[in-house]
Amino acid sequence: MSRSNEPTPINLVFDEPPQKKKPPKHLADFSPEERREFAKENGLPAFRATQIANHYFSHLSIDPNTWSDIPAEMREKFAEIFTPQLITLVRSVTCDNGMTRKDLWRLHDGVLVESVLMRYTERTTVCISSQAGCGMDCPFCATGQAGLTRNLTAGEITEQIVAAARTCASGELPGGPTRLSNIVFMGMGEPMANYKAVMRSLRNITDAAPDGLGISARSVTVSTVGLVNGIEKLTQEGLPVTLAVSLHTPDDDLRDTLVPINSRWKVKEVLAAADAYAEKTGRRYSIEYALIRDINDQTWRADLLGRLLKNRNAHVNLIPLNPTPGSKWTASRREDEAEFQRILESYGVATTVRDTRGREIDGACGQLAAAELAKP
Ligand code: SAH
Repeated sequence: MSRSNEPTPINLVFDEPPQKKKPPKHLADFSPEERREFAKENGLPAFRATQIANHYFSHLSIDPNTWSDIPAEMREKFAEIFTPQLITLVRSVTCDNGMTRKDLWRLHDGVLVESVLMRYTERTTVCISSQAGCGMDCPFCATGQAGLTRNLTAGEITEQIVAAARTCASGELPGGPTRLSNIVFMGMGEPMANYKAVMRSLRNITDAAPDGLGISARSVTVSTVGLVNGIEKLTQEGLPVTLAVSLHTPDDDLRDTLVPINSRWKVKEVLAAADAYAEKTGRRYSIEYALIRDINDQTWRADLLGRLLKNRNAHVNLIPLNPTPGSKWTASRREDEAEFQRILESYGVATTVRDTRGREIDGACGQLAAAELAKP
């Protein structure tokens, strides 16, 4: 996608960008019913799909040699049909004594995406990509700079999550084996612009065994620039994941620049859609706000945001800007950040400052840009 000052065309929002060669089908692309159909199409009894789903989601196993309920001579074939390898690890980089790990993945067509795994005392979170690149063109975000390469399939998204769950279970992270507890759609891409695949992935995460990972919707966060039609669809799904809205400023004037899709859906409309989501799901939503020095961190903006949010079921996440290469923007001064938070709290708006995990390995918010990394 070319970078220009033209607003993003509206009809892009749910469009599939052209794909040269489709990735192989994977059981994670399908609903449980479709998996059984898929088995039949391959001349197999439906229950085989359920067995393989159980190996994949419950045991996190893609090693057919361990599938003892499948006749030995059929295992390889079944793995080819149901669980072809969709993502291949290119390299991992770690920081925070190994507690943060960024993985670079190559997809079947050579496209690269990243995910970040973060272990905390109480939880382990994976931040995954829903698209290769992103078409939303936010000027402060590294992923936005290269434009959108393509949507990921549900299989490709789910593989990042299952790989993270496997890493947790295997004890590779310092501290020994653990469970993957949280998933955030805050890596590369705009989840609402790849709605169907993201929705299938959400079902794979939340469906109980053997159909999915059985992780509660409350532990999943979907972050969006504010595609109102996507938020409205999600509201109807009956799946109470945490919604995060990347607001970054309370006024349309500046937001038109920081989040260009604002030219289509204004601050008021985005918040109204988030309110409806909160109303329907009973879940408080998050407002993401990257604090950019002298751009969106003025006290008057904190006041405006406080007034806007004081009677809403929202929580603000302040993110110190992670500067991207070549950008003239940088993080707010510590004292301005503290003042911003103080003002919001004076309106009774719950506010936290996001940690900058992964910053040194370009694995923090808005830093994921695999294409750049892969250059020789
Ligand atoms: N497209 C989605 C999810 C991807 S990014 C969205 O925009 O919400 C996840 C969060 O990181 C978003 O809130 C995004 O605005 C923020 N972000 C992007 N670039 C950043 C940067 N350089 N510093 C801090 N946060 C950034």
